Formats: sequence, C-alpha cells, structure tokens
Amino acid sequence: MSEESVDRRNFLQLIGLGAGALGAGLAAPAVVAETENGFLVESESEYGGFLVEKLKEGKYPYECDPAVLKRMSEKYNIFSRNGWDPVRLNRPERRLNLTYENLVNGRGVLQNQTRLDYALMAAAWKYANMGGPGGAYGWELGPSQVTGAGLDSMGAWDPADLDMTWGEASLTVKHAALFYGASLAGIAELNPLWIYADHYSPVRADRERVIPVYVEGDRCERAGDAWYIPGSMNRVISLAFEEDYFAIANSPGRLASAATGNGYSRMAVTASTLSDFIRALGYRAIPAGNGLGLSIPIAVDAGLGQIGRLGLLMTPKYGPRVRLAKVITDMPLVPDSPIDFGVTQFCEACMVCAEQCPSGAITDGPRTWEGRSPSNNPGVLKWHVEVEKCYDFNGFSCSNCKRCCPFNKPNNSWLHRMIRQVIKGRIKPLDGVMVAFDRASGYGRQLEDAEFWKMDGQKSITARESM
Ligand code: SF4
Ligand code: SF4
Repeated sequence: MSEESVDRRNFLQLIGLGAGALGAGLAAPAVVAETENGFLVESESEYGGFLVEKLKEGKYPYECDPAVLKRMSEKYNIFSRNGWDPVRLNRPERRLNLTYENLVNGRGVLQNQTRLDYALMAAAWKYANMGGPGGAYGWELGPSQVTGAGLDSMGAWDPADLDMTWGEASLTVKHAALFYGASLAGIAELNPLWIYADHYSPVRADRERVIPVYVEGDRCERAGDAWYIPGSMNRVISLAFEEDYFAIANSPGRLASAATGNGYSRMAVTASTLSDFIRALGYRAIPAGNGLGLSIPIAVDAGLGQIGRLGLLMTPKYGPRVRLAKVITDMPLVPDSPIDFGVTQFCEACMVCAEQCPSGAITDGPRTWEGRSPSNNPGVLKWHVEVEKCYDFNGFSCSNCKRCCPFNKPNNSWLHRMIRQVIKGRIKPLDGVMVAFDRASGYGRQLEDAEFWKMDGQKSITARESM
C-alpha cells in the first residue's frame, strides 16, 4: 500500500464521502464555501438537508478543559454503579420489570402492551448480549462458518500488499462497515482520553472487579490484572445504527425498547464482523459497544455529529435516533473531519427534550463544565444529564427525548424543511420561533402501538428513506 496520505487529510476526505456516501452509492456533498474553520458542504441524501461545516484538522465542535478532563473510570458509569454503589443498590426506585407477565397481563406500571409488542422487543435484544468480552466483542479473529474459506485458512498475508492508498483503504473500510449493517461510519484518530481508565466487571466476585486499561506500549492483550491497548492502535472507526423512526415514536412503550434492542444487536454483529474483515487484511482490531470507552465523543471526532442538550450524539441524517459502536485498529486509516451543523445554537433555544423528559434527567439550563452526577465526566462544556433519573424511569425503554427532538423529524414535511433552512442559515433569532411551530404542530406525540402495527412495512421503509 502506498504511504500517500497517511499523515494528512486529503481533500476528498475533508469535503465528503465521510459518513457513508460511498457505501450508499450517494453523490459526494457539494462544497458551498470555505470558512475560517473548514468548508461548508451540503448534501440532501447524506446530511438530510442540513448545511454542514467540515472542520479543519485540530478543530472540534466542543470545548475541553485539559486541566480537568481525565479518562473516566468505567466503574462510575451508571451500569457499573448499579452493581456496587450503595446509593444505587439502596435506591427505592428500581427499573421496571419487563417480563411478559407484567407487561401483557397488566401488572406493573406500563400495562396493556400486546403480545406483538413484547415479541418484537424480546427478540430484538437477542444478540445484544453476544457483545461481552468473550463474545462478539472479543479481541481475536473469530471462526468463520464458510467451509474451506474461513478467515483462518487464508494463510500468511503482508498488509503492505494491499494495493491502494490509505485514503482509498479508509473508504473501503467504511464501505465494509455499511455492508455489515452500520447506517453511518466515520474514522477518527483515537484520543486516549475517551478510553476508560479501567475495566469494571460485575461478575468477578472472586477477584478484583476493577483493573486498569493501558493505552501505550506494544502489548495487545486482555490479561487478568490489566488490559493493554498498544499505542500503535491509534485509529477508531465509529459506527452508528439508525433506530426505527416509528418504533421510537412509541416511546416509552415497548416498541421503543425493540428499536433500542435491535440497535444493540446490530452493534454487536457489525463491530464483530468489521473487526474480522480488518484482521483478515493483516491488522489488529478491537470491537466494542458501550464498553471500553465513551462512544459519543469518539463519534463526534469521527465526523458523525455533535452532542445535543439530551446528552446524545445528534447526526444530520437521523438526529439523535442512533446507537453507537466502535472498532479500534492499527490500520493507518485517514481520519474524517468533525462536523458542525448548528446543533449547539439550536439546542440553546430549544428545551423540548428537557420538557418532555418524564424523569427530569435533562437540564433546561446552560452548558456547564461540571457534571450533575458521579456518572458524568467533567471537563467538557456540554449539557450533562442526570443519568440515574433516566435509568430509573424505565431502563431500556424510554426514548421520549429522541421522539420529540426536532432533529429526529423526517425532512418530508414543510415544517421540518423550514426548520432545516433556519438551522442551515444559522438564523439565531428564528430558532425559538421554529421551536414554537414544532410544538404547535404536535410532532413528537406518542404513536400508539396499534398504529405501528397497522402500518404496511413497505410504506414504513419508504417513509424512512424520504427523511
Ligand atoms: S430516555 Fe427518557 S428518561 Fe432518559 S433522558 Fe430521555 S426522555 Fe429522559
Ligand atoms: S429536543 Fe431541542 S434541545 Fe433537545 S436535543 Fe433536540 S434540538 Fe436540542
């Protein structure tokens, strides 16, 4: 492979083909203008009608305080804290019981869900739990099921024989990511600050549950007393998975949980298969879902979107309606440009998610450097979410904030085309007016599960594609 472009961002990477245009067979975004910080580009198909600023190297759509920002301990994320933190263990509110008995036979808080809803939800989560350290998120090449053509039977291979530039290889890897099931894919230089400082295992009762994670040296290993990511694995591929628009619209019903579970299952399958693809080309790959590090800032660095008031990744095409996974590799891929499409400015005027959050987890105040919970990582100026409140409302099922967010809406209504025009023009005084229109229009209401099941699946797909 040519060494060309290893250390610089070529123009093709900067202006387009970043988050999936190549794999989806879409035209490259058109460059509208050069700005102080990068280039303004536009693409109806890739960016859903938004004007996107692709930022130059070294520019990011967020601010960090290097004196405060540290690698977060996995022990302090909400899932880990539920296993050891006395505050969490003794809390009066516990996640709802999602059993069929409770949901369908009318016991529990969320009642009268149907057998169909339950079936869609339970099946959707089937492969999410393949994603543990020994499963889909393993660090080694997995066995192939193709008789006589398994990846392990391919024989010796020198990665230097790959006959393409790093820029072309980068597009190829993103193409493979979409092929395996991702909705969006982007590449970033790995910032070790986004990797957890340690690994927390709730099931290691007989040994130390917290072990350090090193991002340095040459070792690539999950040893019993520490995990080692070598310094040469300095690229990360961020993967986003669209959640079904109409199922999320049912939030906080079980159909929203089905959309979430489906995202988790696709995360495990895609991150795992993409990792084997990279390994078969002679490079190392470490796949991860929520584990190992913070998926949201990695996705921002990889040009997939920005962070919104609801604390989630906001993408131009799907808004916050995505799940995230990542693959860390030593394949010397060319990073994509981070993007800014006006999210911060619009969220400052819009409080819809804070108003619609049933648990009060989302703030209606300004962005802060400090967190609002032990599970927040201080040192980034953003809207911190009280994740305990979110988790305790009903665990995996609520997506009200995604449901009601104006960025989640299809681009096929006059109102949301107009909102995009206002965001596109960065016309700050009109942001509040657009939010008022959005509220008045009734968008963001809950979709009854009966309405969901009456839909023709094909029509549903058509509606999604026209967003
Ligand atoms: S998922 Fe529900 S409870 Fe959690 S932050 Fe969003 S709206 Fe609030
Ligand atoms: S609902 Fe409004 S404030 Fe909340 S993330 Fe979406 S645009 Fe931002």
